[in-house]
Amino acid sequence: MAISTKYSIEHRIIAKGKSRSGLPLTGKVLFIVAHETGNNSADADDHFTYFNRHVIASSAHAFIDDTKILEIIPLNEQAFHVQFQKPMDNIMFGADANTRAIGVELCRTGSFAKAYDRYIWYFAYLCRKFGLNPKKDIVSHKVLDPKRRYDPQSWLQPHGISWERFISDVKKVYNAWTGGSVKVEAPKTGVKDAATSNPEKVLRKSSKGAAVKELQKKLIAAGFKLPKYGADGDYGNEVVDTVKVFQKAVGITADGIYGPVTDSKLENYKKSVKKKTSRSSVVPYPGHLIKRGFCGKDMERIQRAVGVVADGIYGPATERAVKAYQKRHSLAADGIVGPDTWNVMF
Ligand SMILES: [Zn+2]
Repeated sequence: MAISTKYSIEHRIIAKGKSRSGLPLTGKVLFIVAHETGNNSADADDHFTYFNRHVIASSAHAFIDDTKILEIIPLNEQAFHVQFQKPMDNIMFGADANTRAIGVELCRTGSFAKAYDRYIWYFAYLCRKFGLNPKKDIVSHKVLDPKRRYDPQSWLQPHGISWERFISDVKKVYNAWTGGSVKVEAPKTGVKDAATSNPEKVLRKSSKGAAVKELQKKLIAAGFKLPKYGADGDYGNEVVDTVKVFQKAVGITADGIYGPVTDSKLENYKKSVKKKTSRSSVVPYPGHLIKRGFCGKDMERIQRAVGVVADGIYGPATERAVKAYQKRHSLAADGIVGPDTWNVMF
């Protein structure tokens, strides 16, 4: 089998908007920037969904996981994957990465070996396609933005792959490349895609039905009570508020809309709760935020955990102790006991 036909590329382009400007590259492709997503639970399809919602002015051309190579921005268009004001891309290549480079993201989900094999294949493909030299024309995001970024080494290194090894792996595929053309495919029908074929993956106020019920059950299982309506299949204010509480607690935008990012956070959260509940000492999260002014049984428990007098009243001394506790455990030190803090405490 010719190496060029080892994989095919799925070409599923996000709509123009915040994450896809539609602006053309300002000249021929000069280099490729290697990234990794830093997200343990989102695969290539999830990234398509996320960027297709245009939540941020950020993107990359391709996302690669252990099952596919997915292009979400045409290779002749700009993607925003390196901050414009960073000088290294200009020093090294004489241009901003966003205007003259292809950005490629490695996803963390599934088998690393399978994803990595696709990743190096795709870099070799791009080098062949654009006449680039794997040794000189591939750069890590880390090198371009060393103060803020450590990718893709942040995901290669834990798997024993150094940057040099990565480049030499790309070179091997590049050298073995045999002329044949690469198959670029339109999306397969039935492919996982929350924005189109699976619209129930994004739920919001007034959404109704089985998917909402499912979400409500998930929230309840994760310790968030829905005291008024329970799992009634109706995305009302109670669900909006609870989703917001959850989003705040895990540090994502608290918009009360249940999309794939919130979904993957909740999945992970449920897993961590499950792990904890398998221990006998665990105390389930009461399902509401505990902050200044709160009184009651849960309060005494928290006070014992942070080492202050357990009088059941959340006063200033308790708040200071909670903040100190949060700091010690790398939690957001806001003095509010939400699910994150609670699950570390108990
Ligand atoms: Zn990056």
